[in-house]
Amino acid sequence: MSACLFCRIAAHEVPAQIIAEMPDVLAFKDVNPQAPTHVLIIPKRHLGGMPDLTDEHAGLLAQVMRLANQLAQAAGIATSGFRLVVNSGPDAGQSVAHVHWHLLGGRRMAWPPG
Ligand code: AMP
Repeated sequence: MSACLFCRIAAHEVPAQIIAEMPDVLAFKDVNPQAPTHVLIIPKRHLGGMPDLTDEHAGLLAQVMRLANQLAQAAGIATSGFRLVVNSGPDAGQSVAHVHWHLLGGRRMAWPPG
């Protein structure tokens, strides 16, 4: 059994509010939402962080972007606006070592991020 939390969610071993699935990616609600819409998009196969992504992941990244757009449409935030955020590494505050994209929207956001 994997020790990685997000691998275990992808394997349906740990419960999560899964809202969409594509062949290589999964989307579920963040357990500690920071905005009215806060969804995490993850690759099903383990990749630790942004530095692990290479040219071979081009198809996976296309799925992530396509799913983010579909989820933003479904949540009604495609036009009002949203953020797609990756925290990569300690300075960015990455707390789960399985790369993931935060889809955030439904409220006005500040810039720069804290
Ligand atoms: P990051 O800090 O960028 O690594 O983001 C990790 C995110 O995972 C945080 O926003 C957490 O709230 C979220 N999270 C942690 N555990 C779970 C879980 N079991 N189900 C859903 N989201 C989670």
